[in-house]
Amino acid sequence: MLPSLFVSHGSPMLALRPSPARDFLSGLGGTLERPRAIVIASAHWETERPAVSRMAVNDTVHDFYGFPPALYALRYPAPGDAKLAQRVVDLLQAAGLDADIDDTRGLDHGAWVPLMLMYPQHDIPVLQLSLQSWLGPQHQFLLGRTLAPLRREGVLVIGSGAFTHNLRRMRRDDFDGPAEPDVAAFAAWMNEAVTAHRLDDLLDYRRQAPYAALQHPTDEHLQPLFVALGAAGPEAPARRLHASTEYGVLRMDSFAFGGTD
Ligand code: ZN
Repeated sequence: MLPSLFVSHGSPMLALRPSPARDFLSGLGGTLERPRAIVIASAHWETERPAVSRMAVNDTVHDFYGFPPALYALRYPAPGDAKLAQRVVDLLQAAGLDADIDDTRGLDHGAWVPLMLMYPQHDIPVLQLSLQSWLGPQHQFLLGRTLAPLRREGVLVIGSGAFTHNLRRMRRDDFDGPAEPDVAAFAAWMNEAVTAHRLDDLLDYRRQAPYAALQHPTDEHLQPLFVALGAAGPEAPARRLHASTEYGVLRMDSFAFGGTD
């Protein structure tokens, strides 16, 4: 059975600029059993109620501003999967969650940048799932738990966000310097809670984790972690696959839940 994944996508420049996180993601696809399809929840797509994308071929959405032209030239034309989109909606509705299919939504950079590194051939069908971050970790966990049966069907469930994400504190001229102490303290607490599977603590992370509000002034970028946790199932072991820091405050940690490798 495939694991579920949480990946940190950081800056869109992840697609182009050499970094430890880029090296990690570039090797990650090859360590996993090849999925037949991918469902990815990115921090950059939020809708009033859950939605799944359904395009014959996914558009590449360049949802960022002021970056080099080379970044806007990148495309990730992975196919969609109409049957799987319907299956996701059916699962969500069976769990009491009204859900929509979106025939126009392409992949935002939270989805296509990590996928381009993991699976550069863009030959695996991809659909995106929208989030409702204002409903909190428990809701995103439920979204993930609803998708858990797909893992047995060869579908890779990925949450793509950021382990820490306070852009106003970025040390813009210090890409690979050490993490600020509070960033390191938060990441250490979260890593411990994730790998020890302290689910109740994690769902209450905003009160329990040190400096939580400082790392996530708004926490849409942490919500994909709860999708991945939910998709893992209650007993699934968690492994931290990668940890690094960019600009002193952006943690790029990634985790796998369950799986066999
Ligand atoms: Zn982002």
